[in-house]
This record gives sequence, structure tokens and C-alpha cells, in this order.
Amino acid sequence: MAEAFAAVEIIAAKRDKHELTDAQIDWVVDAYTRGVVADEQMSALLMAILLNGMNSREISRWTDAMINSGERMSWSELKVPTVDKHSTGGVGDKITLPLAPLVAACGAAVPQLSGRGLGHTGGTLDKLESIPGWRASLSNAEMLKVLQDVGAVICAAGAGLAPADKKLYALRDVTATVEAIPLIASSIMSKKIAEGTSALILDVKTGSGAFMSDPERAKELARTMVTLGTRAGVKTRALVTAMDVPLGLTAGNALEVRESIEVLSGGGPSDVVELTILLAREMLDAAGVTNTKDPEVALKDGSAMDKWRQMISAQGGDPDAPLPTAKEHTQIKAEKSGTIASMDALKVGISAWRLGAGRARQGESVQAGAGIEIHAKPGEKITEGAPLFTLHTDEAERFARAKEALIGAVTISDDGRVAERLPLVVARIDSHDLA
Ligand code: URA
Repeated sequence: MAEAFAAVEIIAAKRDKHELTDAQIDWVVDAYTRGVVADEQMSALLMAILLNGMNSREISRWTDAMINSGERMSWSELKVPTVDKHSTGGVGDKITLPLAPLVAACGAAVPQLSGRGLGHTGGTLDKLESIPGWRASLSNAEMLKVLQDVGAVICAAGAGLAPADKKLYALRDVTATVEAIPLIASSIMSKKIAEGTSALILDVKTGSGAFMSDPERAKELARTMVTLGTRAGVKTRALVTAMDVPLGLTAGNALEVRESIEVLSGGGPSDVVELTILLAREMLDAAGVTNTKDPEVALKDGSAMDKWRQMISAQGGDPDAPLPTAKEHTQIKAEKSGTIASMDALKVGISAWRLGAGRARQGESVQAGAGIEIHAKPGEKITEGAPLFTLHTDEAERFARAKEALIGAVTISDDGRVAERLPLVVARIDSHDLA
């Protein structure tokens, strides 16, 4: 069959800063998914997009082309509204774990397709896989059954959902083209729109530990994604939230599951609890579930914990099984007394990754027990020799490089001063805020 375009002409058009037509976009995404456009051609086009950008029509069409590369899921059989949340990822960001069962306990259904960690940011599926027996891969029928029986499901996206994104994401990862706003927005939103949720809350992280460390770029990403969701008929809102300091007191798979269980038991670190409740209220409001129990109550009265236990069991996990722990531990102690003035999320994330909590390449395995416990956060007082971090790994030879990553991660002030921090919520973007 004769092809409608030549890839080289499309690459040249974007290289020369022209707009791509709808037909060019439809063809190039489809032809790449079919293997007609080669990786080296798509790499060149992705780099041209990163350098020269795409306008809002092009981004929208590119997203539609990725959605059309695969199936669209539907939850019309459910009796309650669906709502999902997506985080762009950060250090210690375990919020999805308590959030999905919490929102289900308050009356909305949460079909949460999640990913694995890459680099210094953790992945929800890696965290949940530290629970003995828990399965990330469900068929669409199994997913529907868990949603009907429990109200929340967290699982991996099947091969049929936005296959163009799977190929493009792997290529972007090895061609330094991940960081383009049009490409990030279309990648995330193609999967979320194809997933069939009727409402979506985006948690766009900003600060050193996030993809978009600059808050202005994070806001632009948030606006782009809210525009895409709204155009597709998904009630979409975004919160741009702080990732300059790690969230909570743990970074690492089983360590973060343990902290999430503390939150579901009515305890846990205040920043994790605050963000979980805030996002749950946004999700319920966006889903139109208003006459319901407040999420703060559902964390305290055990109903969110009941949903968690049902959700884990429904996916083969044993909620009562002890969580794996690492074989080796070492502590990093405060070199002087004072007040913790700052803690760099990126350095903590890289250190946890080097301990074995994350992977350097797709497909590698991660250590369930590896990671970092944080003993004091910015604003807290510490005395010389008191533990700042406990490092966990199965392989003691990893400690040296993990410690190296933490050099300069924490500053301690003598006079009680604390470095300026981002507020937990930097911005909130609703479809009404779009131009
Ligand atoms: N997550 C995605 O799914 N895609 C991106 O491009 C970045 C983060």
C-alpha cells in the first residue's frame, strides 16, 4: 500500500518550525506504531518537536492519534462515577496508595492505571509489588470486577492501551526527548483518556525532585493537560504541588507501602496526610460525589483501610503478610546540632535509586526492601550524632554511591533559620482558568 506521506518531509517541516497538519500527525503516529516510520526518523521528529514545540491544535491531534492507536476502555456498567488521579512523579510520592481506597470508601470508583519507576522517581506498581502475592497485570474483565466489588483498582496498563505511547516513551527515554511539554502532556493524557475515566485530577510535581523543577514550566504542563482532558470530555483539574523536599519520611518500595498503611490507619506524616485528603476532596468533587463522608473521617474510621485490604486481596495480595525488609542497613548522622534548614528531594531520590529501589533501564528488577528512611525534616531540630537517614539495601556495596548522592542533601542552621520552601500547593488549574 502506498503511504500517504514520507517521514522525511514531516521531519523537515517541524525542523523548519512549520505546523504539522492533522493528516501528517495522524499518519506519522500510525505509521510509527506500524513500524513503517523507523526509530531514527521518529527520534529526529521528537527532537524537532522538543526544540520547536507544537501548538495547541497539534498537541491535541497528536494525543488523539496516540489514543486511536489502541483500545478505549469503558466503565459504563458501573453504577458510580469514575475518577482517577495521575502524578507526574516524585521522591516519596506514595499518595496513590492510600488515595485510591480512600476515594472508593467515599463513594467514587477509581480505575487507576499506574506505571513503574524510572530513574530517581518511584513507581506505584513497584511499590505495590512488594506486597506478597499482589499482581499488577489484570485483564479488562478482571479490572471491571475489582471495580464493581471494591470500588478501586490499581494496575498496569494493558498492551492494547495507547501502544503508540509505549513505543514513543521508550524511544524518548534513550534520545533525551522526555522533557518536551507537548510530548509529556500527550503521553500522559492519551493513556488517561483511553482509560475511560470520567473525571481526572492531575498532581503535577515541581521542585528539585520533579520532572519539571521550574514551577512556571510545571504550570504550563498542567494547563496543557487540563486543556487536553477538557477537550476530550473528561472533567480535568490539576494541582501543581511541591517536590522540593521528599514527601513523607520514606522513599523506597516496601518502606512507602508501610507509610501508606500508617496513613490508612489514621496516622502517618502530616504532609502525606494533607495531600491525600486534599486530592481525595478534589477527586470526589470532580466526580460529582458530594453528599458523602469527608475523606478525613474515612481515614480515621477505618473505612479507607477496609477498602485497601479488599483491594490488595482482590489482586492476589496478602494484606497481613509482613512486608519485605532489606538485608543491610546503615545510618547517616547529623554532623552538628541545629535546625534542618533544607533537604534536597533529588539527592534523596538518587540515593534511594542507587540503593536498589529504582531501575536504570526499563525491564530491570527493583529491590522491594531498598530505600531511605528520613528521621528529621526541614524545620525540625537535631542534635549532633542523631540519625538523619537510615539507608536500606540488599547489597552493602551500594552504600558508598548512595552516601555520595546524599552529600549536600541536608543543611543544618545554627540560628533556627529554614530555607524558603515551595508551598504544598503551588497552583490549582481548572478548565475555567484556561484562556
Ligand atoms: N509519564 C508519562 O506517562 N509520560 C511522560 O512523558 C512522562 C511521564
